[in-house]
Amino acid sequence: MTGVHGIHHITAISGEAQENLDFYTGVLGLRLVKKSVNQDAPDTYHLFYADAEGHPGTDLTFFPWPQMPPGRKGAGLAVEVGFAVPEGSLAFWAERLGAMGVTSTPERRFGEEVLRLRDPHGLELALTAVPGPRDFAPWRHGPVPESHQIRGFHAARLWERSLAQTARFLGGALGFKLMGEDAGWHRFGADGGGSGRWVEIREVPGERLGEWGTGVVHHVAFRVAGEEEELAVRRQVQEAGSHPTPVIDRFWFRSVYFKEPGGVLFEIATDGPGFSVDEDADHLGERLILPPWLEPQRQEIEAVLPRLRPPAPAVPPRDSVA
Ligand code: ZN
Repeated sequence: MTGVHGIHHITAISGEAQENLDFYTGVLGLRLVKKSVNQDAPDTYHLFYADAEGHPGTDLTFFPWPQMPPGRKGAGLAVEVGFAVPEGSLAFWAERLGAMGVTSTPERRFGEEVLRLRDPHGLELALTAVPGPRDFAPWRHGPVPESHQIRGFHAARLWERSLAQTARFLGGALGFKLMGEDAGWHRFGADGGGSGRWVEIREVPGERLGEWGTGVVHHVAFRVAGEEEELAVRRQVQEAGSHPTPVIDRFWFRSVYFKEPGGVLFEIATDGPGFSVDEDADHLGERLILPPWLEPQRQEIEAVLPRLRPPAPAVPPRDSVA
């Protein structure tokens, strides 16, 4: 069997684009690596936040749909986006978030130190302190000192009515293995497990189904090395009873979408070609990038999209927080 290699990106729905940008770049210190439009609804943005180079495994993306009602947390949805920060960084983050008016709550999970928080539109986030290096490019022009910057994803948390059903699918179609249990959460690891390769599930049999809306995860994408692996995993998804889309060219990666049996929308996405395929790596995210078939309508599209300004320089970088 061909297994996926962890989380590739996570896509969520936000409210106002500017508030979203201010929070993820100005507060969390991620880099806006791509400013594009929703390819299926080009009058809305698609914003991509990641490490400086947009490595797979670091990229949280948003469809800002301020006209949409808030989503409903429930079964069949990803309910939390987990990031990794360096070991010893949580005190810095608790202080930084507090100074910026963001409430955070410490917690211990699977023996790891975690800080829980929400973004301005209600999306649940967690920062987990993780030892050791990882594939990561620091954003030197960001507001967070390199030593404390978010390293990429840690885990995605799902609520499911039936653990067994989704566990079977994660194992059979994507190669995940059950690797731990803590406080009602079941931890599944891809590719041997580790930070960035976890999916954690809580079984909530009586829970109503969640609904998409602002502040809710839209889908979770998993890494495949290239198109050959993608087709192999796609076949496994089909054999496990799901209905994958054909391979869709998203320019920066190639994607296949499908729902797991509990209802969460998943995607598999190739590691390449990456975000610098259509933009200079030094200027990622600065101009609106359109797929070629929308390029003739650039003027009309730019006219309806809200103008985005870089976040106000709020708290200056501090490397010497006690
Ligand atoms: Zn996606």
